[in-house]
Amino acid sequence: MGHGLPLRTRFLCIAILAVTYAQGQVLSTPPNSSSSSSQYHVSAPLSSPELERRIDDLLRQMTLEEKVGQLNQYSAGAPTGPGTGRDDYSEMIAKGKIGSLFNLAGAEKVNAIQRIAVEKSRLHIPLLFGLDVIHGYRTEFPIPLGMSASWDTARIEQAARVAASEASAEGIRWTFSPMVDIARDARWGRITEGAGEDPYLGSAIAQAYIRGYQGDLTSPDSIAACAKHFVGYGAAEAGRDYNSAEISEHTLREIYLPPFKAAEAAGVLSVMSSFNALNGEPSTANAFTLRHILRGEWGYRGLIVSDWTSIAELMEHGIANDGATAAKRAFLAGIDMDMESNLYESHLAELVHAGKVPQSLLDESVRNVLRMKFILGLFENPYVTGARNPDRTIPQTSRELSRTLAEESFVLLKNDASQGRAMLPLQAERGTTIAIIGPLADSSIDMLGSWSGKGRAEDVITLRKALELYAEPRGIRLLFEKGTPILGGDGDFTNAVRAAQNADLVLLTVGEEAATMTGEATSLVALELPGKQEALVSKVAAVGKPTAIILFSGRPLVLTNVASKVGTMLEAWFPGVEAGPALVRTLFGDANPSGRLTATFPRSVGQEPLYYNALNTGRPADGVDLSHPPLNGDEKYHSRYIDETNLPLYPFGYGLSYSSFTYSQPVLSTSFVSAAGLNRSAPGAQVKVTAQVKNTSQRAGEEVVQLYIGQRGTSIARPRRELKGFQRIVLAPGESRTVEFVLDRDALSFWNVDNKFMAEPSEVSVWVTHDSASGTPVKFAVEE
Ligand code: BGC
Repeated sequence: MGHGLPLRTRFLCIAILAVTYAQGQVLSTPPNSSSSSSQYHVSAPLSSPELERRIDDLLRQMTLEEKVGQLNQYSAGAPTGPGTGRDDYSEMIAKGKIGSLFNLAGAEKVNAIQRIAVEKSRLHIPLLFGLDVIHGYRTEFPIPLGMSASWDTARIEQAARVAASEASAEGIRWTFSPMVDIARDARWGRITEGAGEDPYLGSAIAQAYIRGYQGDLTSPDSIAACAKHFVGYGAAEAGRDYNSAEISEHTLREIYLPPFKAAEAAGVLSVMSSFNALNGEPSTANAFTLRHILRGEWGYRGLIVSDWTSIAELMEHGIANDGATAAKRAFLAGIDMDMESNLYESHLAELVHAGKVPQSLLDESVRNVLRMKFILGLFENPYVTGARNPDRTIPQTSRELSRTLAEESFVLLKNDASQGRAMLPLQAERGTTIAIIGPLADSSIDMLGSWSGKGRAEDVITLRKALELYAEPRGIRLLFEKGTPILGGDGDFTNAVRAAQNADLVLLTVGEEAATMTGEATSLVALELPGKQEALVSKVAAVGKPTAIILFSGRPLVLTNVASKVGTMLEAWFPGVEAGPALVRTLFGDANPSGRLTATFPRSVGQEPLYYNALNTGRPADGVDLSHPPLNGDEKYHSRYIDETNLPLYPFGYGLSYSSFTYSQPVLSTSFVSAAGLNRSAPGAQVKVTAQVKNTSQRAGEEVVQLYIGQRGTSIARPRRELKGFQRIVLAPGESRTVEFVLDRDALSFWNVDNKFMAEPSEVSVWVTHDSASGTPVKFAVEE
């Protein structure tokens, strides 16, 4: 895999790109758009000869113990994993035995601890402070899965920039984000932390986060990003967190690795290994993925950190019977820094003494840590300085960005017309009564989502608060009823039903509890609305008023049942501090929903893992009526269920708008392209695809135009469809726009039967359309 250039040439290119980047030239994708050729371009400076000389200098002065010290990382605040930490950090820091601390923030606290490292340790090497800044620091943005539904890479980059600026003001210079794990299974709670199921979109979004966090790396308000979890963590079997993954090399290369590759190309400063075993080899001791692919093939020069105690967990995996072996296996496989296991501290020096770990490898890992500290300017500016007041309120511009991203993340799943009119946008006049029923209308803590950094519940404007502000001056009456808690409850819906009866319109605010049901270690076997909420929906919908579900969730839920009860459903995820204003603007039509699903919504949990870019199988069920059990052999011998259709409830890429859009058939610049030309990246070896998109409604709207391809006749089976480009465009009422995409070598190559990334002779179908399930393809040929 790669750019077809020798590694040394690539580093030179990276350096040139880095300089250009630092000078502020635009090398990245145009805002809000991506087509295959525009990925993997931005890079950041990872080194310079001068910097390496400074590291050499330090390395010469360091004792073995001090070297090992740089490779130890500990959580010094509220733990984000098992265990409670230790209490001798100060002593260890003074002795040069810690390289990085995390889970501790605040300028004063960080400066006090940094002072120990800088003033008391022999070589004055500063500490690197990390934190999980996942979707905002103080200004919370929508959860990552929600942000990904915006398909708005430019705004995601801005959000990451805001997070970097806020976090660095409190001493954090390293975030364990973005999580770039592809997730195809909604049972896995951490689907909430990523960009969904597609590697192409996931790659573009990974790069956006990294550009935002790392910005101009020499500036004190930039922070190092960390692409995690390397690799295959999202493929945990049965969706159970930390479970093993079996992934063929083909699927690894095609699906799970690309976002990491994109992160590397964007100059990500660190990568975190994952907890899972991959094809039997725990990722934290997996030399094939860490050394061979990441370091060797891709030439990655940043830091590799383990996940929380994942080195010690090699013993539970059964590939080490003691701590020394676990430390040795992780280290030799390529893990530079030990997060929380305490095993490098206990064993690495001895392993080097005994000749079981080469000194040169140890130096390489220490170099990786020191390089990161140098790049971040920590040797020059170890302390948080200046008047960056941590307790300030959230600036208006950050709130506006959070609100806009929330609006763009909302996915209108359903908005059926009844008596000629859909319920959204709401039409409410003076005297109209709206009942807001459900446990999530006023829950500020849930709006923050999981991994909410230093987000504060008091910063959140809930839907209730925002609706009250909107409704009062307009003479709209509001009735609020909780109806039932998210979990539990007595099933008495009397008050909820009465509120619905007394209202003209009903909003049902239902969903998951962010902290306990989404994020790490929150796998589920049931994906319906939790607790008694489905019963609440049934009872309230039965009253017969126009009823909309506003859904708050960290994952795709199974909505098959409730979708049949209500005419309108809006997926709001967990929208962040501006949840209420974003929702009110959307509900009343000041904002037009434009979010598109990045993870498939199944009809039934038994369909999981369910994802759009699946292979065809030898017995596809196209054209078979799957709505009933098979009646004869013709209906039976297909890849199907006998008790459910194969279709999702809502496919990848799906989302409605208050506007309506039509697409022309795509037009291709040529009907064939040569495989040999593509493989040489010959000038002109590409196919341009254009299509006209028209807003046929009376309302301005945004459309996420999606380009998919499918290839047949290849050496290995290809997905029915794969995303290879997207553009978010704004269209005025009646406006038409021609969108253009380029299909080049990157788009048309795949990991083939000979284990090479190649373009091959094939028939290629091209769709330019709304979502992964719509559109009619046009075709071209890749010839010899
Ligand atoms: C998670 C990581 C996280 C780390 C540090 C682990 O449990 O898997 O994603 O960055 O803790 O908090």
